[in-house]
Amino acid sequence: MIAQRMSKLDASGIRKVFDLAASMKNPINLSIGQPDFDVPDPVKDEAIRAIREGKNRYTVTQGIPELHERLRALVNEKKGYDPDALLVTSGVSGALLLAFMALVDEGDEALIPDPYFVMYKHLVGLCGGTPVFVNTYPDFKVTADRLREKITSRTKLLLLNSPANPTGSTVDAAELPAIAELAAEHNLLVLSDEIYDCFSYDMPPSSIGAACPNTLLMGGFSKSHGMTGWRLGYCAGPREVIAAMTMLQQYSFVCAPSFAQVAGLTALETDTSAYTEAYRRKRDLICDGLTDAGYEIRKPGGAFYVFPKAPWGTDMEFVAEAIRNNLLVIPGSVFSEKNTHFRISYAATEETIEAGLDALRKLIRQGPPEG
Ligand code: PLP
Repeated sequence: MIAQRMSKLDASGIRKVFDLAASMKNPINLSIGQPDFDVPDPVKDEAIRAIREGKNRYTVTQGIPELHERLRALVNEKKGYDPDALLVTSGVSGALLLAFMALVDEGDEALIPDPYFVMYKHLVGLCGGTPVFVNTYPDFKVTADRLREKITSRTKLLLLNSPANPTGSTVDAAELPAIAELAAEHNLLVLSDEIYDCFSYDMPPSSIGAACPNTLLMGGFSKSHGMTGWRLGYCAGPREVIAAMTMLQQYSFVCAPSFAQVAGLTALETDTSAYTEAYRRKRDLICDGLTDAGYEIRKPGGAFYVFPKAPWGTDMEFVAEAIRNNLLVIPGSVFSEKNTHFRISYAATEETIEAGLDALRKLIRQGPPEG
């Protein structure tokens, strides 16, 4: 009954973790991929006002004009990218699905730096494409040299995600011109997922869009404003691509949620620098703690994840033992073709992070379980 294409999706890794975690009563939870702060009050107030004032109908597919214009200006000012066109989407997830549907033909190859955000691999596969992984271990740096090795005549897309989930790694600004040149040379469209741009700790975020006109730039409100359930994002890029995505959105999502679009304007006026500062402190807390405990890590420049090497065993063996010690983290193979690392999310209270560090210190000291 189920369509063949569904066989391209696989949730076995994460399902195994949920099975293991099912018996946990009150876990030290460092697994969550969303901020631990709530939507800022002015944004909530605006959403409530919008609903009360009847902004509850379908909007135009491309997004309400005020938000559409504001986002175009923001992409221009903040990212140095002047896109032909823009579409307001139901989160970056919505934008990703539309983009792959609009762009990927059977057999097309998409370069995906490994480790990667899970959706990329599965959505490319769903659309008949072939994900081609570019190994970025051990430093998680995306470089033109690493990408070049994997380019074939079928390569059509290059996925970039900076700052990245699950590593927190950022693409070096100095590397962007070389990556842009490579994309131009091989006529690749660069799909740049910049959803974590507000969590850039060591330097301002830089976008490939400034160097590469053939960029499909995606951003959103889920992480920056804790609006994960409101489903609001955007995608800016070449006219032809955005037109195809807009047509698909018309026949699928129709539009992003109307109240969220109205409140999105307020979100853009809201200062979120205190969140960034708080998460910078949490990053330092977890990274210093992990390093002192003897874990092998690359200090992440952004997002709210760190991706340490498992000190013993496979990722699954280590995570199973962590779960037995009441600590919930995610095995690296959920995000990678390798099974050597695990993901910590520090989008949690400092108390939870400290409790997690205690458990991690114990896990590295005790070593693998006997037998
Ligand atoms: N891109 C990355 C790298 C993510 O980590 C996530 C969520 O975890 C998304 C996109 C999805 O974001 P949205 O809530 O805007 O659909």
